Amino acid sequence: MSKEVQPIYIMPEGTKRNRGRDAQRNNIMAAKLVAETVRTTLGPKGMDKMLVDELGDVIVTNDGVTILEEMSVEHPTAKMIVEIAKTQEDEVGDGTTTAVVLAGELLKKAEELLDMEIHPTIIVKGYRMAAAKAQTILKNISEKITGDNKEILKKIASTAMTGKGAESSKEKLSEIVVNSVLEIKIKQDDKILIDIDDIKLATKVGESIDHTELIQGIVLDKDRVHSNMPESVKNAKIALLDSPLEIKNTETDAKIQITDPNQMQAFLDMEEKMLSKMVNKLSSSGANVVFCQKGIDEIAQHFLAKKKIYAVRRVKKSDMKKLARATGAKIISNIEDIEKHDLGIAGFVQEKKVGDEEMTFVKECENPKSVTILIRGGTEHVTDEIKRAVSDSIGVVCASVKSQRVVAGAGATEVELSRNLRLYSESLSGREQLAVKAFSETLEIIPRTLAENSGLDPINVLTILKSAHDKGKKWAGINIYDGKVMDAWKMGVIEPLKVKTQAISSATEVATMILRIDDIIAASLNQDEQQEMGPNFKR
Ligand code: ADP
Ligand code: MG
Repeated sequence: MSKEVQPIYIMPEGTKRNRGRDAQRNNIMAAKLVAETVRTTLGPKGMDKMLVDELGDVIVTNDGVTILEEMSVEHPTAKMIVEIAKTQEDEVGDGTTTAVVLAGELLKKAEELLDMEIHPTIIVKGYRMAAAKAQTILKNISEKITGDNKEILKKIASTAMTGKGAESSKEKLSEIVVNSVLEIKIKQDDKILIDIDDIKLATKVGESIDHTELIQGIVLDKDRVHSNMPESVKNAKIALLDSPLEIKNTETDAKIQITDPNQMQAFLDMEEKMLSKMVNKLSSSGANVVFCQKGIDEIAQHFLAKKKIYAVRRVKKSDMKKLARATGAKIISNIEDIEKHDLGIAGFVQEKKVGDEEMTFVKECENPKSVTILIRGGTEHVTDEIKRAVSDSIGVVCASVKSQRVVAGAGATEVELSRNLRLYSESLSGREQLAVKAFSETLEIIPRTLAENSGLDPINVLTILKSAHDKGKKWAGINIYDGKVMDAWKMGVIEPLKVKTQAISSATEVATMILRIDDIIAASLNQDEQQEMGPNFKR
């Protein structure tokens, strides 16, 4: 009698499972697809992408991380690749496309090694060895600069902006970016501290990109509360209040029985008196400008106007903090406590029409620790893309000022690194050697893509670049305009070392993580969940 063998279920019905080579191929394919999507945007001549969301809103951009974030990627591995771009953005603010393209290429090369029956663990080991060596090589080939070398910093700022719609005003924008970073940097002992949040990026449609300006202080999207207040105040003494300039609404607080009209009048008089007292207190501290995080009562507005005090209400909390850092004011909660030394100082506070809206400028702050870049441009799409370019540029300038180590771009660093890693691989034995060699070849994807995106022949470009590097020209890069070799350093194509080290370490991390996966177990949704998420939702 034969016994029927019962299958054993260790997972719920409907669970999808993908194992071994299938799992690997599936993952590598997803990663390559993501990399391929952003690859065409790399470099000054890279193309842009138009992204349209469910509501029909359009973004036109060249920025790797923005594209990936907007794509709402669903595949779990593809999501891991998107994460690299986000890490790169957080750590350096530039090089997001580079990091993703490198990860895709590392996996593509790994696939070739897998086809040669090399075990994933060997590939992972080789990749890790190569990545570690790459960090040393990069440090060795990098150049040291001083953190206040404006000339070089401007070149770095400009390199990050090349090809991002900011082309025509690159000079001016680079100057603004460098000045803003140098303004807010703080030297503490031997360390340089920079908080990127201290640079406020404001955009306003209108005029042209060339009208973008750096304000030594803060610009607010707000007008003064009362038209009888002065439109501008010189030598501003600024009070920052995070409590309302009004008497609490009695309706919600307590019920007062008023039986006689005189009582009502007495009550109103009292309220008026209290508000007047508050304004007097402000005025006697010497304040001629007040920014209030909460509301300002109409009667108080009237008193303020009479005292010629410029007042703005409902200022965002984040802006209050920035105002404090820019003007040196202390944020006060209780108006009774306000003293002269709590006030901040600005050379000029002014209401000004920008585009079709009134804005408040707090400028000419002395030694501000918070500044604003007011970005102008013909349409919102333009100002948004310029904002992204400026923000990348701020990132690279900060990274350069902090670490003071920089390298040349235009593929020079990648070819030099690749050459050194190939030499390193030759010193190794065993199968890891193949993985290290594959890693060194991976780096060639950067100059190759720069060439392809510029309509040049990638094989040609790589050949001439490699031969220049073999002759000892470490900063030989590709001139994307004529396809010839150029000295990228002399041509001012300069990037912080951190862009490269971070891109390599995160690309390696994610590629090796993906290679070590040999089993994908995906839970299926139960009926209720599926109904809730809609028929198109897949996990
Ligand atoms: P990422 O998101 O990686 O920063 P980009 O589209 O900004 O992508 O392109 C960066 C690449 O473009 C870098 O490899 C950089 O060296 C290169 N690059 C920038 N300016 C130039 C230039 N003038 N000539 C050649 N390559 C350049
Ligand atoms: Mg860039």
